[in-house]
Amino acid sequence: MQYYSRETYIHLNGDFVKAAEAGADFFGQSLHYGYAAFEGLRAYSTHHGIRIFKAEEHFDRLKKSCDAINLPYQWDTPALITSTYELLSKNNLRAAYIRPLVFSGPNMHLTAASSSNIMIAAWEWGPYLGQNLLRVCISDVERPNPKSLPVDAKVSGQYVSSILATSDAIKRGFDEALLRDQEGYIAQASSENLFIEKDFKLYTPPLGNVFPGITRQTVIALCKELNIDIVEKKLTVADILSADSAFLCGTASEIIGIKEVDGIVYKEDWEHTIGASIQRKYKKLVLEEENYEVII
Ligand code: PMP
Repeated sequence: MQYYSRETYIHLNGDFVKAAEAGADFFGQSLHYGYAAFEGLRAYSTHHGIRIFKAEEHFDRLKKSCDAINLPYQWDTPALITSTYELLSKNNLRAAYIRPLVFSGPNMHLTAASSSNIMIAAWEWGPYLGQNLLRVCISDVERPNPKSLPVDAKVSGQYVSSILATSDAIKRGFDEALLRDQEGYIAQASSENLFIEKDFKLYTPPLGNVFPGITRQTVIALCKELNIDIVEKKLTVADILSADSAFLCGTASEIIGIKEVDGIVYKEDWEHTIGASIQRKYKKLVLEEENYEVII
């Protein structure tokens, strides 16, 4: 996959520079130790123009992630949002995935950085896990322990375990991996939150050992709007395998149904699940299509 061309701009510390001409420092602490924080946002081409979905929440979470690891953060959310819209325009992008990254400079010590940089890139990217129902497996790789890393911060280093889990899943013929927390409950997928449906209710693991996904929060809000019972509860392997249906969610993958877990196929037809209703509703929300039919 080619993320940029010679014409692509990135935003770097307040300036727009060509991606192909910008360089990173080989002595950078972030490169060596994974000491960096990032975000993933999506812009949609809506009837009201280009809209970045929940931009404020994402940039606020970026600040929180940096604060959690004492990485200096000297930017404010409205200015970053304005720069991101400008970046989309400079790159002629309407629908795009957006990746802000805060990273530190050269430092080979294991000490907190005294300054940092921000880079924002954007590229066209379809749903991260595709559009077909997923075959997932339960990984032997566990989520990072919250006592060794702030797991609710989007910190670069912790994604090594996601890379291990997903690449092992793919090697074994699956699409994605579900990871246990350190107590043995199923927490989430490598970079998506998990919901299961059982007896017309939705269940999702509570915060604590899972990443506080903005899409997860959106799904919970949609359930409330649609009068769907949603329960935040620790989920066992047995809960996952005996569910009626399940889905993953995240900004990059949006809402995507799971067909089977470790070879056990969900019996309910996806199109008739609560997940499918949420998927349709989410699409309308991000495209700002709600009430559009009424307006035109
Ligand atoms: N879990 C992890 C580990 C993530 O990195 C992400 C974001 N890619 C998610 C879940 C989903 O979060 P969001 O809905 O905010 O994109």
